[in-house]
Amino acid sequence: MPQTKPDILSILRGEHVRFLRLQFTDILGLNKNVEVPASQFEKALDGEIMFDGSSIEGFTRIEESDMLLKPDYDTFVVFPDELEDPRRGRVARLICDVAKPDGTPFEGDPRGILKRQIERLQKLGFDNLYAGPEPEFFLFTRTPEGLPTTETHDAAGYFDLAPIDKGEEARRDMVNVLVAMGFEIEASHHEVAPGQHEIDFKYTDALKAADNITTFKFVVKRVALTHGLHATFMPKPIAGISGSGMHMHLSLFKKGENAFFDPKGQHQLSKTALHFIGGLLEHADGMVAITNPLVNSYKRLTPGYEAPTNIAWSASNRSAMIRVPARRGVGTRAELRMPDPSCNPYLALAVMIGAGLDGIEGRIEPPPPIQRNIYQMSVRDRRKHRVRELPGTLREALEALQKDRVVRNALGEHAYEHFLRAKRIEWDSYRIAVHQWELDQYLAEY
Ligand code: GLU
Ligand code: MG
Ligand code: MG
Repeated sequence: MPQTKPDILSILRGEHVRFLRLQFTDILGLNKNVEVPASQFEKALDGEIMFDGSSIEGFTRIEESDMLLKPDYDTFVVFPDELEDPRRGRVARLICDVAKPDGTPFEGDPRGILKRQIERLQKLGFDNLYAGPEPEFFLFTRTPEGLPTTETHDAAGYFDLAPIDKGEEARRDMVNVLVAMGFEIEASHHEVAPGQHEIDFKYTDALKAADNITTFKFVVKRVALTHGLHATFMPKPIAGISGSGMHMHLSLFKKGENAFFDPKGQHQLSKTALHFIGGLLEHADGMVAITNPLVNSYKRLTPGYEAPTNIAWSASNRSAMIRVPARRGVGTRAELRMPDPSCNPYLALAVMIGAGLDGIEGRIEPPPPIQRNIYQMSVRDRRKHRVRELPGTLREALEALQKDRVVRNALGEHAYEHFLRAKRIEWDSYRIAVHQWELDQYLAEY
């Protein structure tokens, strides 16, 4: 990847790029961008393009509405022609940090919030947190008017390969585009539910992993459209079948070595790993509003669909919130299973680091791992094993967030306040709506 302004300018010229997208995400994790034509390329690379922050969710602070986009040169990529029709001119993008008019970082920028947490772990002597996300999504058909449905033509299940349908063709095109954009794809497969897919990309450092997730969502949605399909990262689009998660495989590295591995440790895990897991468990309630931010997220976190409902860890079984896969050595890692792909990946990784480091600094010992299927444990058993329940609704999650100093500190006051405000409005609008379920249940009977 090119790192200097002259490198990037010469690629832009050489590849006949006509438009440059400057991307960032709002507090909800939605991709935003402003596109500049060739005449503005130098200005854009110098970080001099301004936008009105007061119109972006979570940035709103009228007195500071002018914001600057500072591109991160490492994120430069020219879009492959399958993604952007080259007849209108080729397109490239840069992911940007958001700065105030005086050039200092804007404290509410999700990417900046994650960077601050990475700096914290580097101060403690770690190289970085490595994250391997496993986003799942559904491919649905669209109506002739182009509106998304919850229907799929495919009747396939986990790892199925035949018969190939539109969904699988689309998935292959997605992989091709992602590879052309520099992604290292490890696997792509059909998931458990009809119309549900997963594409796994190689783990990388936390910042790049978050950038990859935002790029991934954009590519998946775009390619689906060209197949007449709608891709959704909504966590539970259909009741009664699996929802979509975004498991996150996490490991810390120190001096080039995996700091989670200790051949002599308990379960061959280091104290660092155990304390990191201890921190994640301790702050799970407070974190979940960020990792599972929608009203709908909590409909996925129900028993029976391989999504966690309890705060526990395990060396093997998939009903636990944290699973430690069997791999040891350089591949030693913890898989955090509650996050879903609707989260803002920058904020989600930031609170994971915040929680894990609190575990390391406070030497938080996790309770013993649970090897049984937690869905089948009695309430008494769970209490005995100190297995708490995850918040069951967005409202409960927001209450837990308010009580969790560590998670709040990881977000910073600005993002915390704006996130909470936006999510309270979302919860209230859900609460006062009359849903189909209520009509089915009550209208005739009462
Ligand atoms: N779809 C499941 C979830 O909601 C996960 C399935 C799997 O283990 O990949 O988390
Ligand atoms: Mg999966
Ligand atoms: Mg997984």
